[in-house]
Amino acid sequence: MSINIVLKKGPNFIEKIIEGDLKRGFSKKNLCFRFPPEPNGFLHIGHVKAICLNFDLGEAFNAPVNLRFDDTNPTAEKKKYVEGIKEDILWLGYKWDNECYASDYFDQLYLWAEELIRKGLAYVDSQDSKTIASQKGTPTKTGTESPYRDRDQEQNLSLFSKMKAGAFEEGEHVLRAKINMSSPNMLLRDPVMYRIIHKSHQRTKKKWCVYPMYDWAHGQSDFVEKISHSLCTLEFKPHRELYEWFLYALGPNLDNTPKQREFARLNLSYTITSKRKLKRLIDEGHVTGWDDPRMPTISGLRKRGYTPESLKKFVRTAGVAKRENIIELSLLEFCAREHLNKISPRIMAVLNPIKIIIENYPEGKEEELIGEINPEDPSAGTRKIPFSNEIFIEREDFKEQAGNSFFRLSLGNEVRLKNAYIIKANDIVKDEKGKIKYIVCAYDHLSKSGTGSEESKRKVKSTIHWVCSKKAKEIIVNQYETLFLVPDPDKQEDFIKHLNPNSLIKKNGFIEPYGVSLKPGERVQFQRQGYFIADKKKQTNKTVFNKTTGLRDSFKQKKKA
Ligand code: ATP
Ligand code: MG
Repeated sequence: MSINIVLKKGPNFIEKIIEGDLKRGFSKKNLCFRFPPEPNGFLHIGHVKAICLNFDLGEAFNAPVNLRFDDTNPTAEKKKYVEGIKEDILWLGYKWDNECYASDYFDQLYLWAEELIRKGLAYVDSQDSKTIASQKGTPTKTGTESPYRDRDQEQNLSLFSKMKAGAFEEGEHVLRAKINMSSPNMLLRDPVMYRIIHKSHQRTKKKWCVYPMYDWAHGQSDFVEKISHSLCTLEFKPHRELYEWFLYALGPNLDNTPKQREFARLNLSYTITSKRKLKRLIDEGHVTGWDDPRMPTISGLRKRGYTPESLKKFVRTAGVAKRENIIELSLLEFCAREHLNKISPRIMAVLNPIKIIIENYPEGKEEELIGEINPEDPSAGTRKIPFSNEIFIEREDFKEQAGNSFFRLSLGNEVRLKNAYIIKANDIVKDEKGKIKYIVCAYDHLSKSGTGSEESKRKVKSTIHWVCSKKAKEIIVNQYETLFLVPDPDKQEDFIKHLNPNSLIKKNGFIEPYGVSLKPGERVQFQRQGYFIADKKKQTNKTVFNKTTGLRDSFKQKKKA
């Protein structure tokens, strides 16, 4: 994918729809949007798209945006998810106007359900769920009407009130809308409106023994909140007819009902975006939790070091589409790098160390060199970097014999140490197994960086990072690969089979002393390696860093290799 991403200018198709509605006379003061998560898990990158879409519209049209929890299923929903969702939205930098819950409307929904029964538009079905499912038919075959479909009204009302009071076991009865068992839209084949669940709800506690189905509660909740434009993903398109049927059956003027408009889900390569599947990864122990840095959840991405700015930039760049598509993960990484480059202090860390002894540098001597904290931001100032006769460099930055294309350190050749001197490798000392113990180098004392002298500007083919081994601190580094080995795990029969066994690679490394002062949540660039975020210290008291992303497009490199 091209990295010269041009930010799409101009309104997206949803904005155009709204502008059209305003032109046709829809009053601007009646605009109202909402983000309606079900609190059955933590939010993921797909939700970021829906959040940005709604909250950005609120901002653009100066209209309220509700946060509505669609909490209609106590078996899967938890208070900790409600709290996590709120935390994530605030972290993204958005503030909702009203905090709403579908459960706040349970009384109203119940009254409306009774009204539908009285209108002959709903009935209690006493068949079990399997039988009901078997009567649904198929898109090409009409369904079969329930034998309870024509139950009389009084009996329906009485049964429904007993269902509510807890007189029945789960599954004994359901309330269904009486629509049309041969509708070409399967969702209109007498959909279930209420089922009995004997479970305490995180907000209404034990008040209810019947809970509204999502499809019954959702459209009505939008209506109660006077949502003008109810935006949802494409899979809800066929549900629109059902939401409108309910509203029409209850009589309101359809002109003032929420307009549902659908947009394509955000799908990301190598990534699962379904709370249910993400939960399975946790339950089966493939990841450590919702906030595991390999998870595409907002909390996971946060722990991984992504910034709110980069996530928003990403979903805005990906755009609002009408058709399903898969966005490349490299776009997300690009957006992260672009922002992190501006804000991250630079430091040096060596993750696969090999020791160098500088033979002509006085043994007990130590000096402090100066390094820029961020070349993109001179106001960030400088840092002190200790230097001595013993340093670590990356093992990959040395080769005994350099080929034609290796310009880093090799025997007889020179390399510049970042912010320091030019060194030349003279000798190698190996252990009895032939493994290199250290490399003997000589430094050019006139070549010190930043002095302005001719020698300090002397060009050599390569500059490498390093740390003073006498002053460096040990760190633990978590590096990541994609959680899945296939670009489309969501499409696989069993996505678990495609987990990447190397999605987490733990390393011990060394960091220059400046890096130890970083607190959990602070981001840095390890020069030449990538962007990292400090995590909580381990019992060992070593600072832990999680790698956000490399400095270059890792997917492009992979393709080349
Ligand atoms: P999941 O399958 O992950 O549970 P969901 O759609 O059931 O997703 P909800 O909590 O109901 O999750 O979603 C809240 C809102 O976020 C909905 O309006 C939904 O359409 C939207 N949304 C969910 N996933 C995506 C996605 N991948 N891209 C864009 N919007 C999404
Ligand atoms: Mg859902």
